[in-house]
Amino acid sequence: MLTNMVDISLIKNWHEKAKEDYFSRYIFEYLAFEAFLKKYKYREDEIRHKSGNIKERSYIQNIKNDADYSSKWSELLTNKKDFKKVVQELTVFLQNEPLVSDVNWWSCTSFDCGQCPTNNPKGIIVNETDFVNVVEFWYQVRNNLFHAGKNPDNKRDEKLVAYAYATLSVFFEDILLPEIEQRTMHPAIWEEFEHKFFTGKAEAMVKVGNSDACANVYELLFTDEKFFPLILNGKQIDRAYIIDKLSFNLTNLYGDPYLLKEEWDNITRTARTPEDKAKIAEYFSSVIPLVKDAIPDLEV
Ligand SMILES: [Zn+2]
Repeated sequence: MLTNMVDISLIKNWHEKAKEDYFSRYIFEYLAFEAFLKKYKYREDEIRHKSGNIKERSYIQNIKNDADYSSKWSELLTNKKDFKKVVQELTVFLQNEPLVSDVNWWSCTSFDCGQCPTNNPKGIIVNETDFVNVVEFWYQVRNNLFHAGKNPDNKRDEKLVAYAYATLSVFFEDILLPEIEQRTMHPAIWEEFEHKFFTGKAEAMVKVGNSDACANVYELLFTDEKFFPLILNGKQIDRAYIIDKLSFNLTNLYGDPYLLKEEWDNITRTARTPEDKAKIAEYFSSVIPLVKDAIPDLEV
């Protein structure tokens, strides 16, 4: 008895989809991209200030305007010949059959569409370094997948999603992911981290400009604001967090004047300029009376 009959073409489609499942791969890749923009890269108030809202579209327009990413995209094409070939193929593919959309955000970097010339090219990537339209392409493919429900059986849809995945995944892996990794404080295991933190050995690798800078917890008290936010156990932290943790440690060492003095020396040793010394007084104003009380002969 064949009571549980299913559409055979569906079985075949699932099988094909499982083999080269660009659809789910792209959805996950896009979710990672979206989270990077919204939860990590751009602050909500910054986006609201520029666009008057915090719609996904505004985050997309913001990265289109990010000249830093545009030049990193070009560098990626120079450094990866195979990747450049894929982007060139995509460019030709779209030029043959543009990916048109109802509202034209192609070639558009404005937050309020309608201000752009209406003769902007639509649905195409002008050339491989056209980062603005590459981003628009990613977003259009995402919209089509989420809203229209692409059919895995449609060869053109399949090709578009495959191209979107092939380009976004490399951009994410080579450009966006290292940004996160370079801000991550080490070590990664929490117990080990706490130990290192309280012995002043926890450090952050941070890319500022073209150099891979590295600073320990004490140095982070005085580093440029560009070093922040850092990532600790998946959460973003600022300088106030570091100050808070060090203050907590000083408080805990109250009963042991020897260790307390050692820790206080570690903190003050890093303050090299009069400005830094003034910062120490400000940062630790709440615990300085306690430090003085434990070590009466200490100069603060
Ligand atoms: Zn526009």
